[in-house]
Amino acid sequence: MRYDVVLIGGGLSSLVSGIILQRSGRKCLMVSAGQNALHFSSGSFGILSRLPDGTPVERPLDEAEALPAGHPYSKIGGSGLRDLAGGIVPFFASCGVRLHGGVETNGWRLTPTGSMKPAALALDEVALFPSKDYKIGHKALIVNIEGFLDFNSEFIARGLRERGTDCRLETVSLPETEHLRKNPTEMRSVNIARVMDREEVRTAFLFAVRSLLRGEDVIVMPEVFGFADTSAIVKVSEAFPATVLFVGTVPPSVPGMRTQMLLKKAFESSGGMLLPGDEVLGGEISDGRVKSIRTVNLGSVSVEADDFILSTGSFFGKGIVSGPGTVYEPVFGLDTVYETDRSKWYDEDFFARQEYLSFGVDTDGRFRAKKGGKVIENLYVTGSELSGANPLYEGSGAGIAILSAMQVAREILNGN
Ligand SMILES: Cc1cc2nc3c(=O)[nH]c(=O)nc-3n(C[C@H](O)[C@H](O)[C@H](O)COP(=O)(O)OP(=O)(O)OC[C@H]3O[C@@H](n4cnc5c(N)ncnc54)[C@H](O)[C@@H]3O)c2cc1C
Repeated sequence: MRYDVVLIGGGLSSLVSGIILQRSGRKCLMVSAGQNALHFSSGSFGILSRLPDGTPVERPLDEAEALPAGHPYSKIGGSGLRDLAGGIVPFFASCGVRLHGGVETNGWRLTPTGSMKPAALALDEVALFPSKDYKIGHKALIVNIEGFLDFNSEFIARGLRERGTDCRLETVSLPETEHLRKNPTEMRSVNIARVMDREEVRTAFLFAVRSLLRGEDVIVMPEVFGFADTSAIVKVSEAFPATVLFVGTVPPSVPGMRTQMLLKKAFESSGGMLLPGDEVLGGEISDGRVKSIRTVNLGSVSVEADDFILSTGSFFGKGIVSGPGTVYEPVFGLDTVYETDRSKWYDEDFFARQEYLSFGVDTDGRFRAKKGGKVIENLYVTGSELSGANPLYEGSGAGIAILSAMQVAREILNGN
C-alpha cells in the first residue's frame, strides 16, 4: 500500500495537516488510535496566554516572537507565524467550524468554575469577553437540567457574583432528560445534546426556561446543544429577550466532539483515507528516511509513503510514554527531550506549572524528528508531541497543534 503522506494520530494537529495536504492534491492516509484532546476541549483555542516565566500575554503573536529558540513558535518564526495564524479562522470556516475572537489579542472565556481564562479564538457559541473582570450582565439566570452533575451552577454563580452580577439558580426537568437519569452514566453532556437536537424536546426546554425568567438580562446554560451541527445553538440563542451564555461542562465536550466530526468530515470528503481505531506499531527506517509503517489492523501489510507526520500527542495521547527513569517515543524510538531528575517532573500544587507537560520529541528547525541525534528526512512531528513548550501552562495548546501542522503541510508542499 502506498500514499503520498501517512499521518499518525487523529487529533486536531493531524486533521489540520491532513486536510491541507489532501486538498492540495496529496494522497493521505491517517491512522488514528483513539480519543483525542478535542473530546475534552473547552471550545476555545489558546495561542499564547503566558510566557514560560509566567508573564501574562495580551498580544500572542507579538510575544511569541520572544520565545526561546526551541519553542515550536520560534521554529516557525515571527513572520511565518503571523502569516499562518491569519489563515486559522478561514481554514476552520472552510471545514464548517466557525471561530470568533482574533489571533492578535486575547479575550476571556467563562470557565465551568465561574472564573475567566484567556483564549485567542473560540467556537462561535463560546463567548469571549474583553477583560478578566468583565461584568457579563446585571442579573443572570443560571439554568441546569435536573440531575445533570457535570455543570456546577453554584461555582458559576460565585464567579459571576464576584464580578458584580446578581444570580438566580434554577433547574429544568423534562421527560426525555428524566429518562436519561434512569442510568446515571447516561446523564452526560453528549447524550443530553443528542436529546436536545430533537426540536420538540428543545422547544419544551425553551418554554420551561422562558417561564422562569424574571427580568434577567443574561441566561447561563451548560453546553449541551448542537451535537450534530450548530443550528440548535442558534435557535436557543435567539429564543429569549436576554443574552444566552453557554458554559463548558465536565468532559466529554459537545463543542469539541462536533469540531472533531466536522474536521474528520472535511478530511474524508476531500478524499483522505482514515483508519479509525487502528494503531501504528512501528516503522522501517533506512538511509535516514522512514520507508514504511505497520499497524495493528493491517497486520503484515506495511504502508509506504513519501512523507510521514507523527501527531500522536503528549502523554495524554500516548505519543510519549514514561518508563523507569526515561521518557520515550513508542512508535519509532525517536529522541525525546525531558528532565532527567524525576523529582522535578511534577509539582504537588495541581495548579502550578507541571514540568512533565514540556517533555516531547526533539526536532530540527523544520519539525523533522531525530533519532540517535540524526535527522530523519521525511518524518515530521506536530502538535502536543513536540518538545520545547508547556502548552497547558502557556495556554498555547491549540495554537501549537494548528500552527505546527500548517507549517509542516507547507514544508511538504514546498519540498515535493
Ligand atoms: C484533556 C485536554 C484538554 C485540552 N483542552 C484544550 C482547550 O480547550 N483549548 C486548547 O487550546 N488546548 C487544549 N488542550 C491542549 C491540546 O493538547 C491541543 O489543543 C490539541 O488538541 C492537541 O492535539 P494533538 O493532535 O497534538 O494531540 P491529541 O489530541 O492528543 O491527539 C493525538 C492522537 O494520536 C493518537 N495516537 C497516539 N498514538 C498513536 C499510534 N501509535 N497510532 C495511531 N494513533 C495514535 C491518539 O489516540 C490521539 O487520537 C487540551 C489538552 C488536553 C490533554
